[in-house]
Amino acid sequence: MKPASKTPDWVLAALEERHQQNLMRRTITLESPQVPHAQIASQDYTAFCSNDYLGLANHPSLIKAMNDTAETYGVGGGSSHLVCGHLAPHQALEEALADWLGYERVMLFSTGYMANLGVISALADKNRPVVQDKLNHASLIDGALLAQAPLRRYLHGDVASVQKLLTKSSAAGLLVTDGVFSMDGDIAPLAELSQLANQYDWMFMVDDAHGLGCLGENGRGCLSLEGLDSASLPILVGTFGKAFGTAGAFVATSHDYADYLTQFARPYVYTTAMSPAVAGATLASLQLIQSVEGQERREKLARHISYFRQRMQSLPVELIPSNTAIQPVVIGDSKTAIAISEQLKTLGIWCTAIRPPTVPVGSARLRITLSAAHSDEDLMLLCDSLEKVLTAKLLSAKRLNPM
Ligand SMILES: *Cc1c(COP(=O)(O)O)cnc(C)c1O
Repeated sequence: MKPASKTPDWVLAALEERHQQNLMRRTITLESPQVPHAQIASQDYTAFCSNDYLGLANHPSLIKAMNDTAETYGVGGGSSHLVCGHLAPHQALEEALADWLGYERVMLFSTGYMANLGVISALADKNRPVVQDKLNHASLIDGALLAQAPLRRYLHGDVASVQKLLTKSSAAGLLVTDGVFSMDGDIAPLAELSQLANQYDWMFMVDDAHGLGCLGENGRGCLSLEGLDSASLPILVGTFGKAFGTAGAFVATSHDYADYLTQFARPYVYTTAMSPAVAGATLASLQLIQSVEGQERREKLARHISYFRQRMQSLPVELIPSNTAIQPVVIGDSKTAIAISEQLKTLGIWCTAIRPPTVPVGSARLRITLSAAHSDEDLMLLCDSLEKVLTAKLLSAKRLNPM
């Protein structure tokens, strides 16, 4: 065997720093599907940190659709959409999504991260700035970096702060926000933002990764909750890795924008199309989301959310005003967040602590996510366990720091 090459000192130093700050990240391996019951290192847990909000990731209809599509069209995309990788299942999925959301066109992307990179880097440049919410997803921020566009960020959800930035800007550009914020679960003031964009002649884009499927009429997400449509929200990004239970993403938009992105969105042009089998499974997922079963799943999720919030009211925790499946319990420092996550594990609950830089410094948290796949008993176990662990933490803090 060749001797291992020496790791550069700066790599080791960066790792050491993450260790010291309790910020080291590692992958864990699930030996089972997603929610509700995950097997990790041969132990059974009830998982409360997956984005499988509707419990579709392991749904028999999706599995069957994936197998059937693979039988007919194969597994691999084979090439990019523009060469010969755009197969009938991709086209069917694009048309069904466009129909569902009321847009002229939908374009598929391999991931949500790439959809955001692609759309923003194509639409913004050094003369067309990007204005974003402070808490926007990393992929939206990175899109502006790739565009080499001026990037300005406004106070979270603060419409006055947006208006200030738009007034000050010498050129019109792209206003972009998460629909549901991924680490907080609250919803952006989309109707007001749309109006501002219109008033200042800015392009307006929303990434509704966490709203689509879960919220609004027919699961149409923030769009429907906030009373928007293809005219007031010309660029809508959605992802399939969350409520849809598959993988990939899309942008819903007009013919003109879609034609433009087909030319200029590099993460669309220079990558292999998603697997046609995944497109087939995603179409089955969309049909489920639009069906009575989808509606029942959304209603069950909503019941879990209100039960959880009601139980947490009596606990010494900071709850974020969220009515979505994302229900963060903000702990503060990373070390305590990890300790609480570890204690929950001993009670059979899996909830990975989320730490900086994913969230702002001092706001490490349990990003608890609820799913229609959870039973009432699962929710009870979660709330009872949190009650135990968080009350114990409060008592020990008092002993250390008597009032
Ligand atoms: C998860 C997420 C993405 C990335 O989507 P992937 O398909 O996982 O790459 C983009 N935006 C938001 C708001 C997300 O939460």
